[in-house]
Amino acid sequence: MTYPRRTLRPNLPARVREVRDVTGSMREIDLVGPDVPRLRVRPGAHLVVRVPADDGEARRVYSVWRHDPASSLLSLRIALHDAGGPGCAWARKTEPGDRVTLEPPRTKITLDDSAAFHVFAGDETGAVPLLAMRAALHRSAPGRPVIGVFESASESDEMPGLPGVPALPWVHRGRASAVASRVLLRAVAALDLPAGSGAAYLAGESETCRLLQRVLIEQRGFSRRSVHTQPQWQPGRPGFGAGTDD
Ligand SMILES: Cc1cc2nc3c(=O)[nH]c(=O)nc-3n(C[C@H](O)[C@H](O)[C@H](O)COP(=O)(O)OP(=O)(O)OC[C@H]3O[C@@H](n4cnc5c(N)ncnc54)[C@H](O)[C@@H]3O)c2cc1C
Repeated sequence: MTYPRRTLRPNLPARVREVRDVTGSMREIDLVGPDVPRLRVRPGAHLVVRVPADDGEARRVYSVWRHDPASSLLSLRIALHDAGGPGCAWARKTEPGDRVTLEPPRTKITLDDSAAFHVFAGDETGAVPLLAMRAALHRSAPGRPVIGVFESASESDEMPGLPGVPALPWVHRGRASAVASRVLLRAVAALDLPAGSGAAYLAGESETCRLLQRVLIEQRGFSRRSVHTQPQWQPGRPGFGAGTDD
């Protein structure tokens, strides 16, 4: 848990300030709210957004892309997918001025400062926390080797990172499924890794994360402890990760 429980409300009111298309399949939503400056947001943190749904509200989890306490700003990046539940519907339709409730941020994967090098890999949804972590690393340890690869459907779906941070490569699955993605598995198996003891961060579709973890441990010499995994969605599992036990 990364927030001071006693001082923050469990339901944080927020308002949409701006919405923009990052790519044709991803939208960025800027939120402002009175509690935003006090939130403790570690790189890669996520929070629950209570989005409108047919029966009232649905809880959906989103990574914090940017947190700017000085301007009370919190930005999310939400992938628009065809199966489209309430999270996607909100991202497609929301407009400046809309109100929404947030829950305080939590953190599952954190940067390992002791690692000799860092590896990032994931799909578009995983790229949101991982590129935010990659940017934090660039600020705190600019010389530390960073390797990685992300996967999107096509070149036009590649999500740009934060300005001034060196980019990592993308591979494309085309019309293939993002579930248990062979394209990403092959790309991670082929990464050119430096010597030493590294840390790896994986995020995105659940089965892809599991298989990538296996490749890193069984083929690339990582220990189980040095691979940090954040599954973010799974076919047929609406509201993945939004349970009370996450
Ligand atoms: C820790 C954590 C961090 C997350 N961070 C982000 C983030 O920064 N950006 C982001 O976009 N998402 C993120 N997610 C995923 C997000 O919580 C939702 O699962 C996603 O937006 C789908 O919500 P929905 O309401 O549209 O669909 P749901 O109602 O949840 O699901 C409807 C159907 O869509 C399928 N589905 C869900 N996601 C995808 C997808 N990407 N591609 C294809 N089918 C899919 C589901 O399997 C289900 O069958 C994160 C999840 C977790 C657990």
